[in-house]
Amino acid sequence: MKGFAMLSINNVGWIEKESPVAGPYDAIVRPLAISPCTSDIHTVFEGAIGDRHDMILGHEAVGEIVEIGSEVKDFKVGDRVIVPAITPDWRSLEAQAGFHQHSNGMLAGWKFSNFKDGVFAEYFHVNDADMNLAFLPKEISLSSAVMITDMMTTGFHGAELAEIQMGSSVVVIGIGPVGLMAVTGAKLRGAGRIIGVGSRTACVEAAKFYGATDIVNYKDGDIVKQIMALTNGHGVDRVIMAGGGTETLGQAVAMVRPGGVIANINYHGSGEYLQIPRVEWGCGMAHKTIKGGLCPGGRLRMEMLRDLVLYNRVDLSRLVTHEFKGIENVEKALLLMKDKPKDLIKAVVIV
Ligand code: NDP
Ligand code: ZN
Repeated sequence: MKGFAMLSINNVGWIEKESPVAGPYDAIVRPLAISPCTSDIHTVFEGAIGDRHDMILGHEAVGEIVEIGSEVKDFKVGDRVIVPAITPDWRSLEAQAGFHQHSNGMLAGWKFSNFKDGVFAEYFHVNDADMNLAFLPKEISLSSAVMITDMMTTGFHGAELAEIQMGSSVVVIGIGPVGLMAVTGAKLRGAGRIIGVGSRTACVEAAKFYGATDIVNYKDGDIVKQIMALTNGHGVDRVIMAGGGTETLGQAVAMVRPGGVIANINYHGSGEYLQIPRVEWGCGMAHKTIKGGLCPGGRLRMEMLRDLVLYNRVDLSRLVTHEFKGIENVEKALLLMKDKPKDLIKAVVIV
């Protein structure tokens, strides 16, 4: 089969590989829609997780099952499924401890395009199909459905990690597709004021659509000063970091109030350290909590998010600004995610 791969750091291209086969609990899926992620850009062009040779890229897909293992109970060949970006080993101590994202090792629940071939191929392998696939109903379009697999679960995890309360004031640093879903998640959890930080027009418009009450452009100067000015010097209750570089942690610490929570969902692809400013952190005594996490995956998570879409609580169509037809266009879509033109939020390829 053909797959679009990371050949080495900074190099991508089409390669031929043996088609995967299903073990007793697994499934082989043919993608119906795929989407490149900014994380693929960190992985390929920053070498953020180290070198990978001839590894098929992609971890966002919905598809159709073409082969099923003998022990899989709930799915059959021909079913249309949502495939989470994170497909953990559910029989692991980390999963039992509540951190399935790190099943059998830090970040090891993230298998596609990290530890094994990803979804930008004619076929791909899904471990533990009963626990890692979710049914895709026909009412949800393919391009919206593929946004559930990573963008929605990640952005919503930002809102969860930040422990948004009813009426919380929130800053979301970065309003790409991940930040937009953090805005959406914050609004659903009852946030009051939501300040989005970004510059590109498509993202700013979408942020207002999803619930941002204010927009701050980081290109207009120090975002801490801008946010302090907007909040009469008080700062905000919660900060979700969904974009920008290593400097954003220090900014988040400075703009969150004592007792506040900072939730990072950004993939810091470069730089050695993230620094915490001593004084703004109350010399260590400000009760400012810092958390960060990989998005949750697995079947239950996908089904719960899917139902938010199915019952019209969340409209994901607004995230997809570029839609291509034919898997051969995945390279174009990936390069769009690298170049980030003003009108881009997210690109999808309908296979
Ligand atoms: P985008 O590149 O589309 O969005 C990044 C956002 O950050 C944009 O709004 C951008 O503004 C803004 N930004 C850039 N520089 C700064 C700055 N200096 N200060 C403040 N804001 C800034 O990325 P995505 O939304 O696709 O992804 C966001 C991050 O989430 C990525 O690092 C991605 O790898 C990661 N990710 C993490 C996952 C997880 O499980 N934790 C899963 C999936 C993705 P502008 O409008 O100018 O572009
Ligand atoms: Zn991703």
